[in-house]
Amino acid sequence: MAVTRTFSIIKPDATKRNLTGAVTKKLEDAGLRVVASKRIRMSQEQAEGFYAVHKERPFFGELVEFMMSEPVVVQVLEGEDAVAKNREVMGATNPAEAAEGTIRKEFALSIGENSVHGSDSEENAAIEIAYFFSNDEIVG
Ligand code: ADP
Ligand code: MG
Repeated sequence: MAVTRTFSIIKPDATKRNLTGAVTKKLEDAGLRVVASKRIRMSQEQAEGFYAVHKERPFFGELVEFMMSEPVVVQVLEGEDAVAKNREVMGATNPAEAAEGTIRKEFALSIGENSVHGSDSEENAAIEIAYFFSNDEIVG
């Protein structure tokens, strides 16, 4: 299997509770390598653009407000089959349905405040990485 990249966000509920290191350790323990990382405060424009695919969903406004509410840590992760590996260690969107040992099972507060984002395909990973990082910020 090839070494690939995916995009991750440590969300406001996790940065607020000082879990940046704990979440990153879970990612690293799963075999993913952090090849880019920065702590930012998302603007409304960034949050709306990033989640544009969900703009018709009833939770869109709440989601955008949440993503702007505290700093987030955006990361590029690299590893064997990185998209699938990251989704596995993240766990299900709803923490009540997340498997034992996953980030969301351990840390998420609710289906909305669920501690992490992870790309759902290699195509979206490339788009999401380019949304937040320039090439010279990614050091593999
Ligand atoms: P995932 O983050 O697992 O890929 P989705 O892409 O379906 O999940 O949703 C994006 C984000 O929107 C979720 O991570 C969560 O923060 C929020 N969200 C999803 N469903 C709901 C919901 N029913 N109520 C509130 N927020 C939600
Ligand atoms: Mg998604």
